[in-house]
Amino acid sequence: MINDKIKGACVKSVLAFLLREGLLAAALSEVSPMTRELFGEGVLSTNWYSADAYIELLDAASARAGMGAQWLMIRLGKQIISDGLSTVYRVFLPVESPFLAVSRGHFLWRTYFKHSELILLRAGKGEAEFEVRSEPSTSVAYCLTKLGGMIGALEIIGARSVQGEHASCRGHGDQHCRFRLSWDE
Ligand SMILES: [Zn+2]
Repeated sequence: MINDKIKGACVKSVLAFLLREGLLAAALSEVSPMTRELFGEGVLSTNWYSADAYIELLDAASARAGMGAQWLMIRLGKQIISDGLSTVYRVFLPVESPFLAVSRGHFLWRTYFKHSELILLRAGKGEAEFEVRSEPSTSVAYCLTKLGGMIGALEIIGARSVQGEHASCRGHGDQHCRFRLSWDE
């Protein structure tokens, strides 16, 4: 499996978010010198960056956040999506409902991740389940940002009372990374 790559725009959102939360300096001080160098000097929106370095940064921030880490990572994922609002609109513009939008989720995924895939396992009225495949490395913090992104994207396209859960995670030693979402249409 090829290591995944993350779009620079996404890395920039993360760096700005952690700076606002007062966690950036501490997180960067705990990652490897290579990662610190990679993210410490100008990240370009259109470049692709190592997912392993990105995961290292998220894990360091998450460890620093302590008890609130889970919610922080979900908020971070939502922020990434709202920073990329024009992309979200472009991907979902042709659809009229969240129910139809989930079948286009992999197009949005593709703008942020180079090699991993988002697979829609099932979809019904007000609910969907996704699995992330072809992803050599992951972590719970990394997955929670994806969960936040999925919730954020659904909210932007008009889904109400969105709930999300990452019940099965390879970061916990499970076999798959699966995400369940539900909402009011
Ligand atoms: Zn996971």
